[in-house]
Amino acid sequence: MNADTEDDFLSNPKVLEQYGLLREIGIFRYIDSLNNEIRGYKNILNSASDIFNRTTIDDIMDATVWQISDHFLPSFIFFILKPLQNKETITTKGYKNYKMIDLSLDIESIAPFETFFQEYKKPISYDLLLERMEDKAAVRVMDDLHPELVVPIIGPSGLYSLILIGSKILGDKYNTQELNYLTQLMSFVAQAIQNHLHYEYSVRDVKTGLFNHGFFMSRLNEELARIKRFKKPASLMVLDVDKFKNFNDNYGHLAGDKVLEAIALTLKTCVRTEDIPSRFGGEEFTVLLPDTDKDTAWLVAERLRTQIAEMTISWSPPLPTVTVSIGVVTFNENDRSFPDEIIKRADEALYLSKERGRNRCTVWGTGLLFRLEQTKGRQEKSTGALQTASGDEPKGAAL
Ligand code: GH3
Ligand code: MG
Ligand code: MG
Repeated sequence: MNADTEDDFLSNPKVLEQYGLLREIGIFRYIDSLNNEIRGYKNILNSASDIFNRTTIDDIMDATVWQISDHFLPSFIFFILKPLQNKETITTKGYKNYKMIDLSLDIESIAPFETFFQEYKKPISYDLLLERMEDKAAVRVMDDLHPELVVPIIGPSGLYSLILIGSKILGDKYNTQELNYLTQLMSFVAQAIQNHLHYEYSVRDVKTGLFNHGFFMSRLNEELARIKRFKKPASLMVLDVDKFKNFNDNYGHLAGDKVLEAIALTLKTCVRTEDIPSRFGGEEFTVLLPDTDKDTAWLVAERLRTQIAEMTISWSPPLPTVTVSIGVVTFNENDRSFPDEIIKRADEALYLSKERGRNRCTVWGTGLLFRLEQTKGRQEKSTGALQTASGDEPKGAAL
């Protein structure tokens, strides 16, 4: 027999001749069952590739909800995600008909479910969960939503998430095949979350949650290539906390760490999504501003400087105001600059901000080298005592 497809097989005259016999021995039922199995594998492969193609946690959640909705049309889906890197509280998200809706649940942690689901790594009906889990109060929290299924997402570091799925809109129950699909799907979701975490650990600074030095350097290289293609300037600012050694000496390193976290939060919230705030190292930060000219970069730097100086950090005893000095450099396609040269220029501008009294911004420009020489000269003459800017001088300066 030479049959490439099922249709070829069925239209083969020899098969037609023996149709009765083949049916009697169950060949057609067997083909049907194989086809069902193949459909199942195709479904799960499609779902898996959709979920694996997502890079942010929000996108992973959306793709998962999409897949579950496509398959079952449930009355609702509710995601509970435990705090991942740099988040302190759990994330919850409710969906109905593929859209996010305002569902809430009074739940602070999924930790009470950890032990149970380490043993029972499968979707379970809500009623059975209530019956089997010792900590009934933890389960009863879900009572208001009353899901039909509770699906655990378990990865190498434990229980990442619980997905609560409502009953099907069409009313039928979830069958064994569907539960198997969900079991396979959740292992892919767990893997996607794990991949996301690995990626985040490799590009983020653990203390502040900002991008790390390595990621910043690769983005700076990319930006230098991009400005050559698109012929638009980009800017870089380097920020350094003023007199931070004194601060640590007076208030302790833990208070110092809290300050670094607060500065990081200000940087994250005060720049555009396309900007790259990073921790360069120690108490030094950088912000890479794609598609940003000198005047705008200076305005952004000034805004960050003032916002940082106005931060209030809750700590006992109360902490004094912290300030930063900033160096800004703008570069365009004519600069033929290398990353090291760009950073050096921003550093030179920063140096001048420090020399001129700290808590100010300096933009790198052609007059800057001359100013640097002058400052060094004064420093030598005045046996180390630096002349600082008077209080009346504008705090930001574009040179
Ligand atoms: P300047 O205004 O000239 O920058 O003075 P400075 O004291 O900030 O500069 P210096 O380079 O002398 O000291 C930097 C300090 O930053 C010393 C170090 O203890 C502190 N620092 C660096 N990284 C961290 C950190 O992760 N946590 C805390 N708490 N302190 C840090
Ligand atoms: Mg420093
Ligand atoms: Mg410093």
